Amino acid sequence: MSAYDLIEHEYDVVVVGAGGSGLRATLGMAEQGLRTACVTKVFPTRSHTVAAQGGIAASLGNMGPDSWQWHMYDTVKGSDWLGDTDAMEYLAREAPKAVYELEHYGVPFSRTEEGKIYQRPFGGHTTEYGEGPPVQRTCAAADRTGHAILHTLYGQSLKNNAEFFIEYFALDLIMSEDGACQGLLAWKLDDGTLHLFNAKMVVLATGGYGRAYFSATSAHTCTGDGGGMVARQGLPLQDMEFVQFHPTGIYGSGCLITEGARGEGGYLTNSEGERFMERYAPTYKDLASRDVVSRCMTMEIREGRGVGPEKDHIFLHLNHLPPETLAERLPGISESARIFAGVDLTKEPIPVLPTVHYNMGGIPTNYWGEVLNPTARSQDRVQPGLMAVGEAGCASVHGANRLGSNSLIDLVVFGRAAAIRAGEVVDPNSPNPAINRKSVDKALERFDAMRHADGGTPTADLRLKMQRTMQQDAAVFRTDKTLAEGVEKMKEVAAGLDDLKVTDRSLVWNSDLMETLELANLMPNAVATITAAEARKESRGAHAHEDYPDRDDENWRKHSLVRFDAKGKAKLTYRNVHLDPLTKEDEGGIDLKKIAPKARVY
Ligand SMILES: Cc1cc2nc3c(=O)[nH]c(=O)nc-3n(C[C@H](O)[C@H](O)[C@H](O)COP(=O)(O)OP(=O)(O)OC[C@H]3O[C@@H](n4cnc5c(N)ncnc54)[C@H](O)[C@@H]3O)c2cc1C
Repeated sequence: MSAYDLIEHEYDVVVVGAGGSGLRATLGMAEQGLRTACVTKVFPTRSHTVAAQGGIAASLGNMGPDSWQWHMYDTVKGSDWLGDTDAMEYLAREAPKAVYELEHYGVPFSRTEEGKIYQRPFGGHTTEYGEGPPVQRTCAAADRTGHAILHTLYGQSLKNNAEFFIEYFALDLIMSEDGACQGLLAWKLDDGTLHLFNAKMVVLATGGYGRAYFSATSAHTCTGDGGGMVARQGLPLQDMEFVQFHPTGIYGSGCLITEGARGEGGYLTNSEGERFMERYAPTYKDLASRDVVSRCMTMEIREGRGVGPEKDHIFLHLNHLPPETLAERLPGISESARIFAGVDLTKEPIPVLPTVHYNMGGIPTNYWGEVLNPTARSQDRVQPGLMAVGEAGCASVHGANRLGSNSLIDLVVFGRAAAIRAGEVVDPNSPNPAINRKSVDKALERFDAMRHADGGTPTADLRLKMQRTMQQDAAVFRTDKTLAEGVEKMKEVAAGLDDLKVTDRSLVWNSDLMETLELANLMPNAVATITAAEARKESRGAHAHEDYPDRDDENWRKHSLVRFDAKGKAKLTYRNVHLDPLTKEDEGGIDLKKIAPKARVY
């Protein structure tokens, strides 16, 4: 392709994404002296992590007794026994270290009277392996924890000489003839130039794909670009059927009210004014885990006890809490409630509805962040040159359902782990191998074809069709019938990519083209989600199947993998769950009997 001039760059590591995970990886790589570039389509501090309110989980024990084993138990149970045991141990054990590092980097955490990091209760986090009262484990900087983390990590990355390529859109991975990742192609949005990055390691930290659905708490930029890039190389996506609905998105806008609101004492009521969670989860009530609360709310609405003229939502009460507590601990959501629901939360309840919030599934990795490309013979085979961290990845620590405040800790623990691993496998003194020009040409051809797409369907129309289908057929309640219909509908919707029309052909600030590229990335994420959901004949975590209401460990305690062939057809295989911990019990590891599968009740 000679029509495009390429500006070429060479680095040891290129990180795609400047959210919490991308910045933590970038910082860790740069600290070790690796030549590190961070490529991001939005300004770093505008990444979705900035919106994280509630906090970051780590068993510091500042507010009462806690241990990494209890945190691990809660994570295992939260995952509904689908998470990988080694990765979950790594998360819980490394969490305190990762949080103290953040503190030392300068994150302005809220403080207790004695000056320790303040921690609040969050859903699903307990003491005594689920036998004791809720624990205060979630470290917070008021209700803007993500904001504080992101600004701190960006400053530290600059201080360590990481180089930033801001408002560059990563288009495609570049692969060698023998299948190793060698770098990527990116489009600079403000001047239209194209950039070829040659790297010994590429780290995908591109965030989730919430925008595959109609109503989501995530930013409009959460379009699963990393998953799209990986899918186009024939690499798998894992556990995509598990999509978390947050119980308290503001009715109408989807804007999030943090679970910290219930952590501070907020509660839900139905049209009869009943605190219905007491009925479903007698022990942890409104602080049961998210999938449980979302399902209970949906059940109340379906049984006619929703609030409002359409009886189609639920109330969240904070009006009984002292106004000082609201002002000090939850200032941001006071503002969100006013702007997005027109509610003064010191006086009235907030109208809320379960809203798409988090993608448990993603690019499969081991607990070092190395991408896995399983074969029949080796299900843990590492894909050379490629890592994935944060919401884009699937380590898998969240399994079928993520606990609140376990994502921010996942970002920093695995961003850090990826950097540690890269320090071991990337040699800064070796030359970068020559890049495979055929792979570059292929990426350029695809970009050019998108730019000149001249079919009959505007991008926004096809996107809406996809979002409505996913919202209708792959939401909180799923049945054989809706899922089978959904799969057929999504096949049709995905075929619509061939008929797109892009009206703006320019290369400078072409938002039409950018949204088209994003839609093309969302699509494989959406198709993988509904395909894997249709196949999974059980209920587990966020995948609640009305025709198979029970969890079936014998047949379904396994990870789903979806790959796409050259024609875009989805193919499903499975991978075993890792059952072995990192540390043996007699060497200080967790008591394995404690994490043996059992019914998940709160
Ligand atoms: C409203 C809200 C509140 C939340 N609150 C909490 C909380 O309190 N506690 C908690 O643990 N979790 C919370 N979560 C979840 C958590 O915040 C997210 O899972 C997490 O921030 C994702 O971080 P990330 O680093 O993976 O990606 P993101 O922060 O989403 O960043 C993605 C990055 O990738 C870049 N990117 C993407 N595609 C491309 C491309 N093609 N080219 C170049 N760059 C690209 C973007 O520019 C961006 O920098 C919340 C989520 C939401 C939506």
